[in-house]
Amino acid sequence: MNTYKPMLANSIETPFDAPDWIFEVKWDGIRAIAYVNEVLSLKSRNGKELINNFPELSELLNLTSNVVLDGEIIVMRDGRSDFQEVVHRNQLSNRLEIEKAQKITPAIYVIFDILEKDSISLIDEPLKKRLDILNRVVKQGKFTTISIPVHEHGIQYYETVIKRDFEGIIAKKLSSTYQPDSRSSDWLKIKRVKSCDCVIFGYTIGEGVRKDTFGALLLGLFDEGKPVYVGRVGTGFTDLELNQIKQKLDELIISKVWFTDADIPPGSTWVKPQLVAEVGYQEISRDLRLRAPRFLRLRDDKPAELCSIIQVKTQKLDEYYAKRDFTVTPEPTGGYTRGEGNSFVIQEHHSRLTHWDLRLERDGVYVSWAIPKGIPNDVNEKRLAIQTEDHPLEYGGFEGIIPKGQYGAGKVTIWDRGFYLPIKWSNDKIEIIFAGERLKKRYELILINKEKNEWLIFKKQT
Ligand code: MN
Repeated sequence: MNTYKPMLANSIETPFDAPDWIFEVKWDGIRAIAYVNEVLSLKSRNGKELINNFPELSELLNLTSNVVLDGEIIVMRDGRSDFQEVVHRNQLSNRLEIEKAQKITPAIYVIFDILEKDSISLIDEPLKKRLDILNRVVKQGKFTTISIPVHEHGIQYYETVIKRDFEGIIAKKLSSTYQPDSRSSDWLKIKRVKSCDCVIFGYTIGEGVRKDTFGALLLGLFDEGKPVYVGRVGTGFTDLELNQIKQKLDELIISKVWFTDADIPPGSTWVKPQLVAEVGYQEISRDLRLRAPRFLRLRDDKPAELCSIIQVKTQKLDEYYAKRDFTVTPEPTGGYTRGEGNSFVIQEHHSRLTHWDLRLERDGVYVSWAIPKGIPNDVNEKRLAIQTEDHPLEYGGFEGIIPKGQYGAGKVTIWDRGFYLPIKWSNDKIEIIFAGERLKKRYELILINKEKNEWLIFKKQT
């Protein structure tokens, strides 16, 4: 048998209908190529053997023979695939634990392609033919299922899938070949856009056709009762909505200026914060701005004071997840620990370039910096600290070796940990007093280059 690396999909934003395409659920699990011979081997994208952690999937040996299959290992919970659970199962190493987990959270292998049959490669055959063969030569089992795609009608299927709280859909061209290890536009993933219920705090002046209504809505969320600016939305409105919203806003105008953030256009009008808009967006930036925002609808059913910043903070670990392959790295997946308050950890990290990672607990995650020369000990010696992606709180206890080829490969040990007292915490200046085992003094972090995420850290005279 040949070995194969999975074909990958490009991303697009909106679903579509097309006669030569099929549409499938985008499963949130571990991608795995199955080699079914006298024995069964299940390989992750990075070539890690997965069968030992998912022994129930060896039923495949009774359902087919002499094939190479492509699919996703998932664990279902509450009617949807639970990514954290499948990753947790993959990280178990104790035989008894694996046996127990297999009963409580059984895995399912969802098969969606066939790459080889009886030593003949099928990857140059069109997808349509491969699927015919797949359905002929593989039987369904208790832990094995064959994906049932929908033809042509991607838009309606996307709506159905999103309503059931799945992450999105994959579209595949029926005439396409299988292109191992490459990201192709013959396969497209269409992921759900996030949405957030924002309070309208004001609006900007409209121009041209919008001169009688408004340019954009100024949006905020509440952080423990205090309003925080999260950006403005100027697209997604119908003409009717523009007029209706403008009418409502006119009755709410006040003279109070809610926000003075530099990116708010001058001459904006402020209103009593009573209207709630559901806004779609792609992600939230570090300085709390909604990226690619789009107006979806007014929400008359939700009180403004319930629109909390928590809605967008659950997305904070996206970058952490995107950078790591949890089938390979021993780093924690996170999401289980409740915060203790103001904990910190400094990890010595022998990756390509040795550095020290400073992590300060804040709003349920570790805000993190890589410090190439480590924490300075002399008063006023300024050292570079590069802000990296937020880490889950479970990372506070992490020591181990991140394997070769992985993001941050190398040995990680804890240099110090404990608690800190925040004196000041703003977007560009943080002042704290460490109460660790080694570190006990007052330090300051100052943002010097926002694009490059560069800060300076130094010890203060006390
Ligand atoms: Mn590091």
